[in-house]
Amino acid sequence: MLADTFGRVATDLRVSLTDRCNLRCAYCMPEEGLQWLAKPDLLTDEEIVRLVSIAVTDLGITEVRFTGGEPLLRPGLVGIVAQCAALKPRPRMSLTTNGIALRRTAAALAEAGLDRVNISLDTLRPDVFRRLTRRDRHHDVMEGLQAARQAGLTPVKVNAVLMRGLNDDEAPELLTWAIQNGFELRFIEQMPLDAQHGWKREGMITAAEILASLQAHFQLTPEGERERGSAPAERWIVDGGPHRVGVIASVTRPFCSACDRTRLTADGQVRTCLFATEETDLRGALRSGASGEEIAALWKRAMWGKKAGAGLDAPDFEQPDRPMSAIGG
Ligand code: SAM
Ligand code: SF4
Repeated sequence: MLADTFGRVATDLRVSLTDRCNLRCAYCMPEEGLQWLAKPDLLTDEEIVRLVSIAVTDLGITEVRFTGGEPLLRPGLVGIVAQCAALKPRPRMSLTTNGIALRRTAAALAEAGLDRVNISLDTLRPDVFRRLTRRDRHHDVMEGLQAARQAGLTPVKVNAVLMRGLNDDEAPELLTWAIQNGFELRFIEQMPLDAQHGWKREGMITAAEILASLQAHFQLTPEGERERGSAPAERWIVDGGPHRVGVIASVTRPFCSACDRTRLTADGQVRTCLFATEETDLRGALRSGASGEEIAALWKRAMWGKKAGAGLDAPDFEQPDRPMSAIGG
């Protein structure tokens, strides 16, 4: 088991497949992009499957989420999913994506064994999308959403980040659209994980603001702790049900005490938290011929050292060197 000293057990593995991306979301990376990881530093498809296999068979991982960067840019993705689907016990598998390439790949991913997708869409307005992501790809994302639903990658969850002065007036519109299309919408508070270190608490749209703006149009009833479990999103029942809306308030209402995650970066480093400042190198161990048992022991030791919380409010909080796109969001 991947236990820590605070009594938590990680059962949910986030695997970043690449740090590259075909968008440049303002809250994530600068317009000019980043210095990407060099190819030899990335885990190969076989190395990823080997590590997922150790996590699933020896360490109690039951959920695997592929992310990035943009995971659909990874050429071997369908094969990785298929091989992970053949593991025993078979993990539940999902993908967090900007959706751009889903029109082409959703059916193959579903066939390979992917269970679900989370698609990021912050705005229904193509011109706002262009300003926010610095790319003119709104239409591709909308097509990707439909393709995911048709392929049965459901429930399709939609992640939205609101930015002041850009799309902060869109929460009710997004929720109406999500309900009409059968998507489960979750708003994410903007976190200090952008590569350019431009995040400011005063600039962030808080969960309270998001809820106030929704409550002006919908009746929201809290879903309760039991249904939430270890999920980061607090959920509200919309207008008496059956639809729900989620808010992931990582900054103003962190949920670290119930965190069940462990993370693997595209270059094979274990991170215990998005905000961790230390990493454990599994790639080096793999490449120097470590056994499955030795790798499992390294992973366990890393998780045992997981801190109680992200520490965003601590006076000595430091934004991690790796941005969200290089950790795997
Ligand atoms: N490229 C894929 C995508 O956008 O879905 C996967 C990686 S992305 C880093 C994962 C999620 O993190 C997205 O939903 C994105 O909106 C969110 N995200 C990125 N930077 C963020 C930030 N600074 N604060 C909050 N959420 C962020
Ligand atoms: Fe790319 Fe996702 Fe970051 Fe946007 S949030 S720039 S889609 S990695």
